[in-house]
Amino acid sequence: MEYFLDEQQKTLKSLARRIAEERILPVRAELDEKEEFPWAIMKDLADSDMFRVFVPEEYDGLGGGCLDLCLVIEEISRVCSGVAVSYAATGLGAAVLLEYGTEEQKQKYLPDIAAGKKLTAFALTEPTAGSDAGAIKTTAERTTEGYVINGTKQFITNGGEAEIYTVIALTDKAKGARGASAFLVEKDTPGFSFGKKEKKMGIRTSSTRELIFRNCLIPEENIIGREGMGFIMTMKVLDRSRPGIGAQAVGIAQGALEAAVDYAQNRIQFGHPIITLPVVQNMLAEMAIRVEAARLLVYATARTIDSGVKNFTEEASMAKVFASDTAMKVTTDAVQIFGGAGYMRDYPVEKMMRDAKITQIYEGSNEVLRGTIAAGLRKRKARRE
Ligand SMILES: Cc1cc2nc3c(=O)[nH]c(=O)nc-3n(C[C@H](O)[C@H](O)[C@H](O)COP(=O)(O)OP(=O)(O)OC[C@H]3O[C@@H](n4cnc5c(N)ncnc54)[C@H](O)[C@@H]3O)c2cc1C
Repeated sequence: MEYFLDEQQKTLKSLARRIAEERILPVRAELDEKEEFPWAIMKDLADSDMFRVFVPEEYDGLGGGCLDLCLVIEEISRVCSGVAVSYAATGLGAAVLLEYGTEEQKQKYLPDIAAGKKLTAFALTEPTAGSDAGAIKTTAERTTEGYVINGTKQFITNGGEAEIYTVIALTDKAKGARGASAFLVEKDTPGFSFGKKEKKMGIRTSSTRELIFRNCLIPEENIIGREGMGFIMTMKVLDRSRPGIGAQAVGIAQGALEAAVDYAQNRIQFGHPIITLPVVQNMLAEMAIRVEAARLLVYATARTIDSGVKNFTEEASMAKVFASDTAMKVTTDAVQIFGGAGYMRDYPVEKMMRDAKITQIYEGSNEVLRGTIAAGLRKRKARRE
């Protein structure tokens, strides 16, 4: 397929692939087994300027768009999506700052993020507020000295490893979601600590942790945007980052497809490679069709976003839902093609199947996003009438 990538994008994609194959592939099983954060690989990604991709040039970045970031995430995920999500979470953690931060905030934080010296995280979810993100309880009370944050965030990617956290908290409890604001919180701020480190099914090299705020005082200038804008900014930023989850899913599915083809060519049963069996050929063909369709939807959505259109909520949701369902189906079929060997940790496809599952759940579960897509269809119908 011709994806009409420009020369820079082709170079970026092949560089990301090279890092994934040379640096990540040899250690991916070990990272998964030990559940260790991939610091050495984060350094490799930083040395190769990968964290500069999503940062504008005026803050030492490369000024890439949504598609550029998707290409990097896809290539890393093809080998290990646990590493990819640790990288991508820094893009998400910086997204509110990038879109809505002041010049001073950007000057202060973005060059270090671009250099990969500081990872970031995005903290919205709480024990009682997952899909219903508007139900958050963490508060940020304005005082004469600054904002005082109290509350607990749950399931935060890069928790404990990141230096900079974008935290969504209520500045006006009475207004609920419309009283939410976004804040930059630095790791060593007194009153900010880390709780439970989750033991996960997949993406096990990534860190997923609780953030605990107890009378955590941050300077007034650490608010991003205005009070009360936190939820709206969050929804806009998540729309923009959802194709990245789609790219993660496409990468996982591509890795599983390649592994299944290789295995089917080499596995001999009844005197022939199993790839000669029509039933295996059909499965592989279906997998390939789905991967290609998912990739095209993710790339097209990313290009739509990069074109500067204002509203892309439904397209971003479709790309994330379709690609993540594809990853789940393709990795499950890959395990099937491997037979009993696929169930063993000696081969990569069981990890890919475990890793695929989360793409259907985070950044808006596929059920919630199908609701978003349906709501868009209802609105469009009403406009036609
Ligand atoms: C590994 C991991 C990393 C994460 N990283 C981050 C992070 O960095 N930052 C962050 O803020 N959050 C993060 N999250 C949180 C993630 O975004 C939430 O888990 C997700 O939004 C779902 O919320 P929940 O887990 O509370 O599930 P729930 O909201 O309790 O949902 C449970 C089930 O009910 C369904 N459901 C709920 N409401 C509806 C509805 N209205 N319509 C249809 N179905 C519905 C869901 O689809 C799901 O099947 C992470 C989660 C995980 C597991």
